Amino acid sequence: MEGCLACDATAGRIEVPGGMIAETEHWHADHCIGPFGVGAVVVKTKEHVGDLWHLPDGAADELGPFLRRISGAIVDGLGAERAYLTMWVDKPPLHVHMVVYPRWPDDRDRALDLQGRRWEEGPPAAAEAAEAAERLRIHLRKA
Ligand SMILES: [Zn+2]
Repeated sequence: MEGCLACDATAGRIEVPGGMIAETEHWHADHCIGPFGVGAVVVKTKEHVGDLWHLPDGAADELGPFLRRISGAIVDGLGAERAYLTMWVDKPPLHVHMVVYPRWPDDRDRALDLQGRRWEEGPPAAAEAAEAAERLRIHLRKA
């Protein structure tokens, strides 16, 4: 659907730093353009699905393994100490989407304190995000 940020990013009508990182039949992952730091990945449904409890069976079946791969790539491929996960789906047109984002070994903040600091800092530089996306892709190809 044109004019939908998620659809436009998935279809390549708007540029996302580094391009697509990974996909399944129902899910698409690319670097998050929001304020979650370098290495944050948005995992979203390709179709409009408003709620977790309305996921088609195929999308529900793929979600756990896909999140396992993406979060593992953030830790093993980028060197994060933890991979955090957040989800808000509240702005139409709705896509179930999750942000998986790194907590680095030298981050002194944890959990919501870390999220709050990242929001204060704003979105990461596009060049750094693109470089992280490439490293994630390379790691996922090997995994
Ligand atoms: Zn859409």
